[in-house]
Amino acid sequence: MSALLNRAEFVPQAARDDDFRSPDSVQRKMYDLSTLLPTYTGKPTKGGRTTREVLGAFLERPEEMNALAARLRAGVESREKPPIGSANAIDTDWESDVDTPEADYEAEEGSPLLVRHYRRERNRTIRKHKLAAVKAAGLPVACEVCEFHFGTTYGQVGDGYIEVHHVLPLHASGPTITKLADLALLCSNCHRMIHRARPWLTPEELRERLA
Ligand SMILES: [Zn+2]
Ligand SMILES: [Zn+2]
Repeated sequence: MSALLNRAEFVPQAARDDDFRSPDSVQRKMYDLSTLLPTYTGKPTKGGRTTREVLGAFLERPEEMNALAARLRAGVESREKPPIGSANAIDTDWESDVDTPEADYEAEEGSPLLVRHYRRERNRTIRKHKLAAVKAAGLPVACEVCEFHFGTTYGQVGDGYIEVHHVLPLHASGPTITKLADLALLCSNCHRMIHRARPWLTPEELRERLA
């Protein structure tokens, strides 16, 4: 478990101390969790609020939570690398072609991390504030990478459309206050390209690559 959590990089390397998810700290957390179980009769240790909430969710919705845990684990164990990082070696190979077509193939779609990322990007309030700040600064509501402007290309139907991307996603930063500077305006193509690479590119990195 310690090795897995160290590989997961939900927390950036720079924010880790020596004890980060060490076998000892994992053992302490497991002990905290076990003393919070309803079947435990001894004196409970101090578990934080998040610990209680997570355990409560597992007790209330075991199937859903176990499935989510399995997907997170599979994501860490497979090729799903954390967002943001060295763009020197872009890995898009995770999308490689299928050798043997399977007519009845079914997919479980949407990595939990990416789904959560998109969900945050639909926060309307912060989006409105970001757009207002961009306009107040006299800047165009256009893609920060390629300068694409939806209204110019598509006319009225495209006017005002832009995608707002969280440059430092929640699963890398941990729970955090999003500042407007953490948001980038992107066209749909650039947004997709950022998420296609593993790790995710920053807008600057994509701009450098734009040929
Ligand atoms: Zn663009
Ligand atoms: Zn995004």
